[in-house]
Amino acid sequence: MLWCRFPLVLLTEQKPWCRVGVLFGLFFLFSFFFFSSHVCGRNISYFYNKRSEDELSMQGLKLFEGDIILPLERNALRNSSYRWKFPIPYILADSLDLNAKGVILQAFEMFRLKSCVDFKPYEGEPTYLKFEKLDGCWSSVGDLQSGQTVSIGERCDYKAIVEHELLHALGFYHEQSRTDRDDYVQIWWDEIIEGMIFLDDLNTPYDYESVLHYGPYSFNINSNVPSITTKIPEFNEIIGQRLDFSRIDLLKLNRMYNCTSSLTFLDQCSFEYINICGMVQSRQDGARWDHTLGKPGDEDHTLVGSCAGYFMHLDTKSGHAGQSALLESRILYPRKKEKCLQFFYRLNGSPQDKLVIWVKKDDGTGNVRRMEKLHTITADGEHHWKLASIPFSVQHKFRYGFQGIRGDPAKSAGGIAIDDTSLTETNCPTNVWHIRNFTSLFNSTSKGDYVTSPVFYSSEGYAFALQLYPHGRSSSPYTNYMGITFHLCSSPNDGLLEWPAGHRQVVLSVLDQDPDVIHRMSLSLSFTTDPNQLVYGKNDTLQWDKPSITGNFSSSCNCYISPGVGWNTFLTHRELHWKKFLKNDGLFIFADFEGRTMCSRSALPKAAGKGTREKKSCLVQRAAGQAGIPLSRPKQRDRACPSSVTATFQMAVFILPHVRCPKMNFLDSFEGVI
Ligand SMILES: [Zn+2]
Repeated sequence: MLWCRFPLVLLTEQKPWCRVGVLFGLFFLFSFFFFSSHVCGRNISYFYNKRSEDELSMQGLKLFEGDIILPLERNALRNSSYRWKFPIPYILADSLDLNAKGVILQAFEMFRLKSCVDFKPYEGEPTYLKFEKLDGCWSSVGDLQSGQTVSIGERCDYKAIVEHELLHALGFYHEQSRTDRDDYVQIWWDEIIEGMIFLDDLNTPYDYESVLHYGPYSFNINSNVPSITTKIPEFNEIIGQRLDFSRIDLLKLNRMYNCTSSLTFLDQCSFEYINICGMVQSRQDGARWDHTLGKPGDEDHTLVGSCAGYFMHLDTKSGHAGQSALLESRILYPRKKEKCLQFFYRLNGSPQDKLVIWVKKDDGTGNVRRMEKLHTITADGEHHWKLASIPFSVQHKFRYGFQGIRGDPAKSAGGIAIDDTSLTETNCPTNVWHIRNFTSLFNSTSKGDYVTSPVFYSSEGYAFALQLYPHGRSSSPYTNYMGITFHLCSSPNDGLLEWPAGHRQVVLSVLDQDPDVIHRMSLSLSFTTDPNQLVYGKNDTLQWDKPSITGNFSSSCNCYISPGVGWNTFLTHRELHWKKFLKNDGLFIFADFEGRTMCSRSALPKAAGKGTREKKSCLVQRAAGQAGIPLSRPKQRDRACPSSVTATFQMAVFILPHVRCPKMNFLDSFEGVI
C-alpha cells in the first residue's frame, strides 16, 4: 500500500511543500530500501553459507531463492526460446572434485533414463553448461544461449542436488513458487529471509515430493522454527526430499520438452495385466508359465502386503523332469550397446529346478533367432523374492527370455516365479547386498549395533564390505537415522593391487523397489577415496592402504577389515517406509567401488572468435605410480563440525543427507572396526 500511496500523493497533491515533503520521503524510502537490501544481501550470503541446504549465495552473484540466477525474462517456463536443444553440450571443469564429476555423470544417466533430456561433451557449440566448483550449488534458469555455469560446490556432490540444479537449468523454479502454493503450504514470512515469485505449474498437481521443493527449515531465521509447513501435516516430513525426481517432476519435465520416450529405458513388466506386456510363450516346450494371482503366503512382488497382485509362475511339482517353458519379450530395438536386465525371482521347487536367462539376437538375415545364454539361476528352496541384475550387450534388434526348467517334480513343492522385470540401457550394479528380515533385525538391535555384508569384489579385484547400523553408530549425534560404513578387506589379490587404493569412487545405493523403474526414487550416495587420507587418530597410517596394515582380523570373513568410512545420516527411519525401500521385509543395497577412468573429451571455449581448445576430463585419475600423483605426507583433516551448523542441521529436513554438516563431518572416518 505504501508504494501505491506515494506516487498518488505526488501526482495529486497541489501544495508545493507537500510535494517536496513527499519527494524527500521517497528519497528516504529508496535510501532505506537500498541500504537495507545491501545489508540484507550480506546477511543472506552469510546465512546461506552457514545454514541453508544446497542453496548458497555467492559473492558478486545475486541468487534468487538461494540457488537461482534469474533470467532477464522471468517466465522462462513459458518462453520456448529459453528451452534447450538436446543433447546439451557440457564441460566438466578441472575445479570439480572427482566425486562431483562422477555424480554429475550419474545425474545425466537419470535424465536419460527418465526423460528425453540428453547431454554430450562440448565441441564448440555457442550454448553449453559448464559445471564448476564455485561457492555453493546454483544454476541459471533456462538456456541463456551463450554458455552458462552450474556450480557444484562443496557438499553439492550428490545425485539429487545435481538433478535439482539441472532442473533449474532446464527452466524450472522451486515447487513452492507456484501460484497455488498457498493452498498446500503455509509460508511463515516472519521466519523467512527473502520473497518468492509465482510461476506456471504446467497443469500438474502441487507436488510435496518434488526434488525442487524446499524443506521446512529452508531460509529460516531461527534454526528450530520452520519457515514452511504443509497444510496436510504428513507432508512436513516429505518436503525437501533429496532422493531423486518425483513422479510430477518428471511429468513437468517431459511436458515442457515434449518427451515421448526415455533414452535408455527399453522394457518393464509387473505382470499385473493379462497381456503380460506383450511377452510371448513358446508353444513347443511342454510346460507353460502361468499368469498367477498371489495369495497370502505366496504373494507377488509388485503389490505384496497391500493386495494380491500377479506374477509369472512355472509349477515344477507336476509334469516331467527336463520340461521347460520359455517366456520371451517382444522384439526390442536398442539405442546403446550395454543393457541391464533386472527382475525379482523365487525358486522354491526342487533343487534341480533352473531359471535360464537368454537373449535372442538377429542372426544376420533379419530374423531374431540366434540364442545366447546369459545366466543360469539354480533353485535354493527359499521363499524370499530375490533380485537379479544381469548385464549384457547387444546392438541390434533382439528379445530376452526366461526359460524355466523342471528339475525333479517328485521333490518339488513349489516352482519358479518371476515378477517386476525391467530392461534399461544402463550399467548394472555389480554388488548387491540383500538384507532379509529387516524388521526383526531392526527390532533386535540398538544404537551401535551393526550387521556386516558379505565380502564383495570390485572389477579391479579390491575386496570390500559394508557395515549397516540400523540405529546409527554409538557416537552418532543423530537419532532415527541408519548409518553405513565402507571397509576394504584383505584378499589374495592384495599383492597385485595398487596401494593406497586412492581415486576410486564408492557408490552406495538403496533400491526403491517400486516396480516402475522410471519412478523409482532410490537413494544414491558416493565419495572418492583420497590416497593421502589418514586413518582417524593414526598419524602414520593411510586410510586406503592394505587392510592387513590398517585393519583388524575378523573371523567372520577370515580377513582383515580396514577402518570404515561412511555416513551417519545414510537413510532415515521415516524414509525407509515412505518409498518402497522395504518390500517383503528385504532391503537391497548396491555397492560399487570403481577406479575406472571415465574420460570425456570436450572442446573448451577460448576467447571470442578464437575457436576452441580440447580438454580431457576424467573422473578418476590413475594411482600414484601411473599418474604421478605425489604421495606427500598427509595432514589430518579438520573434522570439527561448527556447533551452530550442527545444531541447525540436526533440526533440519530429515531427508537431506547433505545438509547437516560440512562434508568431512558427515562423511566420517571412523576409528577402527567397532
Ligand atoms: Zn534450487
